Amino acid sequence: MSDELKQLEKAHIMATYKRNNLVLARGDGCYVFDEDGKKYLDFVGGIATCTVGHNNPEIVQAITTQAQKLISVSNLYYSEPQILLAQKLSELSGLKKVFFSHGGADANEAAIKVAKKATGKKEFIAFTNAFHGRTTGSLALTWAEAYKEPFLPLAPVVRFAEYNNIDSLKAVINDQTAAVIVEPIQGEAGVIVPNADFLAAVRAVCSDRHVLMIVDEVQTGIGRTGTFFAYQHEIIQPDIVTAAKGLANGVPIGVCLSDYELEAGEHGSTLGGNCLSAAAALATINYIQNHKLMQNAEEVGDYLMERLEGLGKTIALIQEVRGRGLMIGIALNAPEASRIVETTMKNGLLCNAATATVIRLLPPLIATKQQADECLEILEKAMQS
Ligand code: PLP
Repeated sequence: MSDELKQLEKAHIMATYKRNNLVLARGDGCYVFDEDGKKYLDFVGGIATCTVGHNNPEIVQAITTQAQKLISVSNLYYSEPQILLAQKLSELSGLKKVFFSHGGADANEAAIKVAKKATGKKEFIAFTNAFHGRTTGSLALTWAEAYKEPFLPLAPVVRFAEYNNIDSLKAVINDQTAAVIVEPIQGEAGVIVPNADFLAAVRAVCSDRHVLMIVDEVQTGIGRTGTFFAYQHEIIQPDIVTAAKGLANGVPIGVCLSDYELEAGEHGSTLGGNCLSAAAALATINYIQNHKLMQNAEEVGDYLMERLEGLGKTIALIQEVRGRGLMIGIALNAPEASRIVETTMKNGLLCNAATATVIRLLPPLIATKQQADECLEILEKAMQS
Protein backbone atom coordinates (compact mmCIF):
# COMPACT_ATOMS: atom_id res chain seq x y z
CA MET A 1 0.00 0.00 0.00
CA SER A 2 2.68 2.49 0.87
CA ASP A 3 4.26 2.56 -2.64
CA GLU A 4 0.82 3.11 -4.10
CA LEU A 5 0.21 5.94 -1.63
CA LYS A 6 3.55 7.54 -2.50
CA GLN A 7 2.67 7.44 -6.21
CA LEU A 8 -0.70 9.07 -5.47
CA GLU A 9 1.04 11.76 -3.42
CA LYS A 10 3.42 12.49 -6.28
CA ALA A 11 0.55 12.69 -8.74
CA HIS A 12 -1.72 14.91 -6.67
CA ILE A 13 0.17 16.97 -4.07
CA MET A 14 2.35 19.94 -5.02
CA ALA A 15 5.98 19.07 -4.47
CA THR A 16 6.56 21.63 -1.70
CA TYR A 17 7.85 19.10 0.85
CA LYS A 18 10.91 16.86 0.92
CA ARG A 19 9.42 13.89 2.72
CA ASN A 20 11.14 11.10 4.59
CA ASN A 21 10.50 7.67 3.14
CA LEU A 22 7.95 6.70 5.75
CA VAL A 23 4.14 6.43 5.84
CA LEU A 24 2.90 6.94 9.39
CA ALA A 25 -0.40 5.36 10.31
CA ARG A 26 -0.93 5.64 14.07
CA GLY A 27 0.39 7.28 17.20
CA ASP A 28 0.44 6.63 20.93
CA GLY A 29 2.07 9.04 23.41
CA CYS A 30 5.67 9.63 22.30
CA TYR A 31 5.52 6.85 19.70
CA VAL A 32 4.26 6.59 16.12
CA PHE A 33 3.79 3.45 14.03
CA ASP A 34 4.14 2.86 10.30
CA GLU A 35 1.75 0.81 8.20
CA ASP A 36 3.54 -2.42 9.05
CA GLY A 37 3.27 -1.69 12.76
CA LYS A 38 6.95 -0.73 13.16
CA LYS A 39 7.35 1.54 16.20
CA TYR A 40 9.27 4.85 16.21
CA LEU A 41 10.12 7.12 19.13
CA ASP A 42 8.83 10.46 17.84
CA PHE A 43 11.24 13.24 18.83
CA VAL A 44 10.04 15.44 15.94
CA GLY A 45 6.60 15.67 17.52
CA GLY A 46 5.01 17.04 14.34
CA ILE A 47 7.62 19.86 14.46
CA ALA A 48 6.64 20.99 17.96
CA THR A 49 2.92 20.47 17.42
CA CYS A 50 2.38 17.26 19.39
CA THR A 51 2.52 18.85 22.82
CA VAL A 52 0.76 16.31 25.02
CA GLY A 53 1.35 13.12 23.04
CA HIS A 54 -0.26 11.32 20.13
CA ASN A 55 -3.75 9.98 20.65
CA ASN A 56 -3.90 11.58 24.10
CA PRO A 57 -7.22 10.27 25.53
CA GLU A 58 -8.18 13.62 27.13
CA ILE A 59 -7.66 15.53 23.88
CA VAL A 60 -9.40 12.84 21.82
CA GLN A 61 -12.34 13.02 24.24
CA ALA A 62 -12.51 16.83 24.05
CA ILE A 63 -12.38 16.77 20.24
CA THR A 64 -14.99 13.98 20.02
CA THR A 65 -17.38 15.68 22.44
CA GLN A 66 -17.06 19.00 20.59
CA ALA A 67 -17.37 17.37 17.14
CA GLN A 68 -20.57 15.66 18.24
CA LYS A 69 -21.98 19.06 19.29
CA LEU A 70 -20.63 21.56 16.73
CA ILE A 71 -17.45 21.81 14.63
CA SER A 72 -17.64 25.31 13.19
CA VAL A 73 -20.11 28.16 12.90
CA SER A 74 -17.84 30.82 11.27
CA ASN A 75 -17.11 34.02 13.12
CA LEU A 76 -20.53 35.45 12.37
CA TYR A 77 -21.69 33.99 15.69
CA TYR A 78 -20.44 33.65 19.28
CA SER A 79 -18.91 30.35 20.24
CA GLU A 80 -18.21 29.35 23.83
CA PRO A 81 -14.96 27.33 23.38
CA GLN A 82 -13.40 30.23 21.44
CA ILE A 83 -14.30 32.79 24.12
CA LEU A 84 -13.09 30.56 26.98
CA LEU A 85 -9.83 29.93 25.12
CA ALA A 86 -9.32 33.65 24.54
CA GLN A 87 -9.81 34.29 28.27
CA LYS A 88 -7.30 31.55 29.15
CA LEU A 89 -4.66 32.83 26.69
CA SER A 90 -5.17 36.34 27.97
CA GLU A 91 -4.43 35.17 31.54
CA LEU A 92 -1.37 33.26 30.34
CA SER A 93 0.11 36.11 28.30
CA GLY A 94 -0.95 39.20 30.24
CA LEU A 95 -2.34 40.58 26.97
CA LYS A 96 -6.02 41.44 26.77
CA LYS A 97 -7.17 40.40 23.32
CA VAL A 98 -6.80 37.57 20.82
CA PHE A 99 -7.17 37.21 17.07
CA PHE A 100 -7.50 33.58 15.99
CA SER A 101 -5.84 32.28 12.82
CA HIS A 102 -5.07 28.78 11.50
CA GLY A 103 -1.33 28.64 12.05
CA GLY A 104 1.88 30.57 12.67
CA ALA A 105 2.33 32.49 9.42
CA ASP A 106 -1.15 33.98 9.50
CA ALA A 107 -0.80 34.78 13.22
CA ASN A 108 2.20 36.89 12.19
CA GLU A 109 0.16 38.47 9.36
CA ALA A 110 -2.31 39.59 12.01
CA ALA A 111 0.58 40.95 14.12
CA ILE A 112 1.77 43.04 11.15
CA LYS A 113 -1.69 44.59 10.80
CA VAL A 114 -2.10 45.19 14.54
CA ALA A 115 1.29 46.94 14.71
CA LYS A 116 0.59 49.12 11.66
CA LYS A 117 -2.81 50.11 13.01
CA ALA A 118 -1.55 50.79 16.56
CA THR A 119 1.44 52.90 15.54
CA GLY A 120 0.39 54.43 12.22
CA LYS A 121 3.87 53.41 10.99
CA LYS A 122 4.71 50.97 8.22
CA GLU A 123 8.18 49.52 8.67
CA PHE A 124 9.36 46.44 10.58
CA ILE A 125 12.61 45.14 11.98
CA ALA A 126 13.35 41.42 12.05
CA PHE A 127 16.60 39.58 12.80
CA THR A 128 19.21 37.70 10.81
CA ASN A 129 18.29 34.01 10.38
CA ALA A 130 14.71 34.69 11.55
CA PHE A 131 11.85 32.49 10.34
CA HIS A 132 8.32 33.85 10.65
CA GLY A 133 6.38 31.93 7.98
CA ARG A 134 5.71 31.61 4.27
CA THR A 135 2.77 33.90 3.48
CA THR A 136 4.05 36.98 1.70
CA GLY A 137 3.88 39.25 4.76
CA SER A 138 5.48 36.75 7.15
CA LEU A 139 7.95 35.80 4.41
CA ALA A 140 9.09 39.42 4.22
CA LEU A 141 10.00 39.13 7.94
CA THR A 142 11.93 35.91 7.26
CA TRP A 143 15.70 36.21 6.76
CA ALA A 144 16.85 33.60 4.20
CA GLU A 145 16.77 34.88 0.58
CA ALA A 146 16.12 31.36 -0.72
CA TYR A 147 12.62 31.42 0.78
CA LYS A 148 11.84 34.88 -0.62
CA GLU A 149 13.58 35.40 -3.95
CA PRO A 150 11.11 33.47 -6.20
CA PHE A 151 8.17 35.51 -4.84
CA LEU A 152 9.47 39.08 -4.91
CA PRO A 153 8.22 41.74 -4.42
CA LEU A 154 6.90 41.08 -0.90
CA ALA A 155 4.76 43.67 0.84
CA PRO A 156 6.11 45.14 4.13
CA VAL A 157 9.30 47.17 4.39
CA VAL A 158 11.62 45.14 6.63
CA ARG A 159 15.11 45.95 7.89
CA PHE A 160 17.20 43.23 9.48
CA ALA A 161 19.28 43.58 12.63
CA GLU A 162 21.81 41.00 13.76
CA TYR A 163 20.28 38.46 16.16
CA ASN A 164 21.69 38.69 19.66
CA ASN A 165 23.34 42.06 18.92
CA ILE A 166 21.48 44.95 20.52
CA ASP A 167 23.71 47.66 18.97
CA SER A 168 22.75 46.34 15.56
CA LEU A 169 19.06 46.81 16.48
CA LYS A 170 19.73 50.35 17.71
CA ALA A 171 21.44 51.12 14.40
CA VAL A 172 18.51 50.12 12.15
CA ILE A 173 15.52 51.34 14.17
CA ASN A 174 14.08 54.61 12.81
CA ASP A 175 11.06 56.93 12.98
CA GLN A 176 9.13 54.74 10.55
CA THR A 177 9.59 51.52 12.57
CA ALA A 178 6.24 50.16 13.72
CA ALA A 179 7.56 47.03 15.44
CA VAL A 180 10.47 44.70 16.04
CA ILE A 181 9.69 40.98 15.72
CA VAL A 182 11.85 38.43 17.49
CA GLU A 183 11.94 34.69 18.22
CA PRO A 184 13.03 33.90 21.81
CA ILE A 185 14.99 30.96 20.35
CA GLN A 186 15.44 30.69 16.56
CA GLY A 187 14.08 27.23 15.74
CA GLU A 188 14.30 26.92 11.97
CA ALA A 189 17.74 28.54 11.94
CA GLY A 190 19.04 25.61 14.01
CA VAL A 191 17.94 26.26 17.62
CA ILE A 192 19.93 29.47 18.12
CA VAL A 193 19.68 30.59 21.76
CA PRO A 194 20.44 34.28 22.40
CA ASN A 195 22.23 35.65 25.49
CA ALA A 196 20.10 35.62 28.65
CA ASP A 197 19.46 39.38 28.61
CA PHE A 198 18.83 39.81 24.86
CA LEU A 199 15.01 39.87 24.94
CA ALA A 200 15.00 42.31 27.86
CA ALA A 201 17.40 44.54 25.93
CA VAL A 202 15.13 44.40 22.84
CA ARG A 203 12.19 45.33 25.10
CA ALA A 204 14.11 48.31 26.50
CA VAL A 205 15.09 49.60 23.04
CA CYS A 206 11.50 49.20 21.79
CA SER A 207 10.12 51.11 24.79
CA ASP A 208 12.72 53.90 24.44
CA ARG A 209 11.98 54.33 20.74
CA HIS A 210 8.15 53.95 21.05
CA VAL A 211 8.20 50.89 18.84
CA LEU A 212 6.14 47.74 19.50
CA MET A 213 7.80 44.45 20.44
CA ILE A 214 6.35 41.35 18.78
CA VAL A 215 7.50 38.01 20.17
CA ASP A 216 7.00 35.08 17.80
CA GLU A 217 6.32 32.08 20.06
CA VAL A 218 5.07 29.85 17.24
CA GLN A 219 7.78 27.24 17.89
CA THR A 220 8.91 28.11 21.42
CA GLY A 221 5.48 28.58 23.03
CA ILE A 222 2.95 26.33 24.81
CA GLY A 223 5.25 25.13 27.56
CA ARG A 224 8.05 23.73 25.40
CA THR A 225 10.93 25.61 27.04
CA GLY A 226 9.65 25.25 30.64
CA THR A 227 7.43 28.34 30.80
CA PHE A 228 4.16 28.76 28.88
CA PHE A 229 5.82 31.34 26.60
CA ALA A 230 9.60 31.35 26.29
CA TYR A 231 9.83 35.13 26.85
CA GLN A 232 8.53 34.44 30.38
CA HIS A 233 12.00 33.25 31.39
CA GLU A 234 12.69 37.00 31.56
CA ILE A 235 10.63 39.67 33.28
CA ILE A 236 9.31 41.39 30.19
CA GLN A 237 5.93 42.08 28.63
CA PRO A 238 5.82 42.11 24.81
CA ASP A 239 3.19 44.25 23.05
CA ILE A 240 2.20 41.43 20.70
CA VAL A 241 2.70 37.67 21.01
CA THR A 242 2.02 35.12 18.29
CA ALA A 243 1.66 31.36 18.84
CA ALA A 244 0.39 28.31 16.95
CA LYS A 245 1.95 24.85 16.38
CA GLY A 246 1.44 23.02 19.72
CA LEU A 247 -1.52 25.01 21.01
CA ALA A 248 -4.17 22.40 20.13
CA ASN A 249 -1.90 19.31 20.04
CA GLY A 250 -1.92 19.27 16.23
CA VAL A 251 -5.38 20.61 15.42
CA PRO A 252 -4.72 23.73 13.27
CA ILE A 253 -4.92 27.00 15.20
CA GLY A 254 -2.89 30.19 15.59
CA VAL A 255 -3.20 33.26 17.78
CA CYS A 256 -2.09 36.87 17.79
CA LEU A 257 -2.35 38.38 21.29
CA SER A 258 -2.20 42.08 22.09
CA ASP A 259 -3.72 44.91 24.09
CA TYR A 260 -4.16 46.74 20.79
CA GLU A 261 -7.31 46.25 18.74
CA LEU A 262 -8.38 45.69 15.19
CA GLU A 263 -11.93 46.62 14.31
CA ALA A 264 -14.76 44.94 12.40
CA GLY A 265 -13.74 44.28 8.82
CA GLU A 266 -10.05 45.11 9.35
CA HIS A 267 -9.11 41.45 9.59
CA GLY A 268 -10.88 38.10 9.63
CA SER A 269 -10.82 34.37 9.14
CA THR A 270 -13.74 32.02 8.47
CA LEU A 271 -12.39 29.04 10.38
CA GLY A 272 -9.95 30.79 12.72
CA GLY A 273 -10.58 29.68 16.33
CA ASN A 274 -13.51 27.47 15.37
CA CYS A 275 -15.29 25.38 18.02
CA LEU A 276 -13.28 22.23 17.33
CA SER A 277 -9.78 23.77 17.40
CA ALA A 278 -10.67 25.92 20.43
CA ALA A 279 -11.94 22.89 22.36
CA ALA A 280 -8.74 20.99 21.48
CA ALA A 281 -6.61 23.95 22.60
CA LEU A 282 -8.45 24.30 25.92
CA ALA A 283 -7.99 20.59 26.60
CA THR A 284 -4.29 20.81 25.65
CA ILE A 285 -3.63 23.76 27.99
CA ASN A 286 -5.51 22.04 30.83
CA TYR A 287 -3.49 18.87 30.30
CA ILE A 288 -0.18 20.79 30.33
CA GLN A 289 -1.14 22.53 33.56
CA ASN A 290 -2.70 19.53 35.34
CA HIS A 291 0.22 17.23 34.54
CA LYS A 292 2.95 19.83 35.25
CA LEU A 293 4.36 19.35 31.75
CA MET A 294 6.29 22.64 31.76
CA GLN A 295 8.26 21.35 34.72
CA ASN A 296 8.71 18.01 32.95
CA ALA A 297 9.95 19.77 29.79
CA GLU A 298 12.57 21.57 31.86
CA GLU A 299 13.69 18.46 33.78
CA VAL A 300 13.79 16.02 30.85
CA GLY A 301 15.28 18.72 28.61
CA ASP A 302 18.09 19.44 31.08
CA TYR A 303 18.74 15.71 31.40
CA LEU A 304 18.85 15.23 27.60
CA MET A 305 21.16 18.19 27.10
CA GLU A 306 23.49 17.11 29.88
CA ARG A 307 23.75 13.60 28.46
CA LEU A 308 24.22 14.94 24.92
CA GLU A 309 27.02 17.18 26.18
CA GLY A 310 28.54 14.05 27.72
CA LEU A 311 28.37 12.33 24.32
CA GLY A 312 30.04 15.40 22.82
CA LYS A 313 33.16 14.58 24.82
CA THR A 314 33.65 11.31 22.97
CA ILE A 315 31.93 11.93 19.61
CA ALA A 316 34.03 14.38 17.61
CA LEU A 317 31.13 15.12 15.22
CA ILE A 318 29.22 16.97 17.97
CA GLN A 319 30.25 20.61 18.05
CA GLU A 320 27.70 22.05 20.47
CA VAL A 321 24.45 21.17 22.23
CA ARG A 322 22.02 24.06 22.70
CA GLY A 323 18.41 24.76 23.55
CA ARG A 324 16.02 25.11 26.42
CA GLY A 325 13.53 22.58 27.80
CA LEU A 326 12.41 20.21 25.06
CA MET A 327 13.67 22.35 22.17
CA ILE A 328 17.17 21.06 21.55
CA GLY A 329 19.69 21.44 18.74
CA ILE A 330 22.77 19.27 18.28
CA ALA A 331 25.20 21.28 16.16
CA LEU A 332 27.62 19.13 14.16
CA ASN A 333 30.94 20.19 12.74
CA ALA A 334 30.09 18.62 9.34
CA PRO A 335 26.93 18.66 7.16
CA GLU A 336 25.86 15.22 8.36
CA ALA A 337 22.46 16.01 9.92
CA SER A 338 20.35 14.45 7.12
CA ARG A 339 22.44 11.28 7.05
CA ILE A 340 22.07 10.85 10.81
CA VAL A 341 18.32 11.54 10.72
CA GLU A 342 17.94 8.83 8.03
CA THR A 343 19.98 6.36 10.07
CA THR A 344 18.06 6.96 13.30
CA MET A 345 14.79 6.61 11.39
CA LYS A 346 15.81 3.13 10.25
CA ASN A 347 16.60 2.33 13.90
CA GLY A 348 13.30 3.57 15.30
CA LEU A 349 13.90 7.22 16.23
CA LEU A 350 12.41 10.23 14.45
CA CYS A 351 14.42 13.45 14.75
CA ASN A 352 14.84 16.26 12.25
CA ALA A 353 17.59 18.11 10.40
CA ALA A 354 16.84 21.80 11.07
CA THR A 355 19.83 22.69 8.87
CA ALA A 356 22.57 20.66 7.17
CA THR A 357 24.59 20.79 10.40
CA VAL A 358 21.91 20.82 13.14
CA ILE A 359 19.82 17.90 14.38
CA ARG A 360 16.72 19.16 16.19
CA LEU A 361 14.73 17.40 18.93
CA LEU A 362 11.17 18.60 19.66
CA PRO A 363 9.52 15.71 21.51
CA PRO A 364 6.08 15.83 23.12
CA LEU A 365 6.27 17.46 26.57
CA ILE A 366 5.24 14.13 28.17
CA ALA A 367 8.62 12.58 27.22
CA THR A 368 10.28 10.72 30.10
CA LYS A 369 13.95 10.26 31.04
CA GLN A 370 13.68 6.63 29.89
CA GLN A 371 12.55 7.84 26.46
CA ALA A 372 15.40 10.36 26.49
CA ASP A 373 17.77 7.42 27.12
CA GLU A 374 16.17 5.48 24.26
CA CYS A 375 16.69 8.48 21.96
CA LEU A 376 20.32 8.89 23.07
CA GLU A 377 21.15 5.24 22.49
CA ILE A 378 19.91 5.36 18.87
CA LEU A 379 21.47 8.77 18.22
CA GLU A 380 24.82 7.75 19.64
CA LYS A 381 25.02 4.70 17.36
CA ALA A 382 24.08 6.79 14.32
CA MET A 383 26.69 9.43 15.10
CA GLN A 384 29.38 6.83 15.60
CA SER A 385 28.63 5.08 12.29
N1 PLP B 1 7.17 31.42 13.20
C1 PLP B 1 8.07 30.52 13.66
C2 PLP B 1 9.05 30.91 14.73
C3 PLP B 1 8.11 29.21 13.13
O1 PLP B 1 9.01 28.34 13.57
C4 PLP B 1 7.17 28.88 12.12
C5 PLP B 1 7.17 27.53 11.53
O2 PLP B 1 8.09 26.77 11.66
C6 PLP B 1 6.25 29.85 11.69
C7 PLP B 1 6.27 31.11 12.26
C8 PLP B 1 5.22 29.51 10.65
O3 PLP B 1 4.24 28.70 11.20
P1 PLP B 1 3.21 27.87 10.28
O4 PLP B 1 4.03 26.82 9.59
O5 PLP B 1 2.22 27.32 11.25
O6 PLP B 1 2.61 28.85 9.33
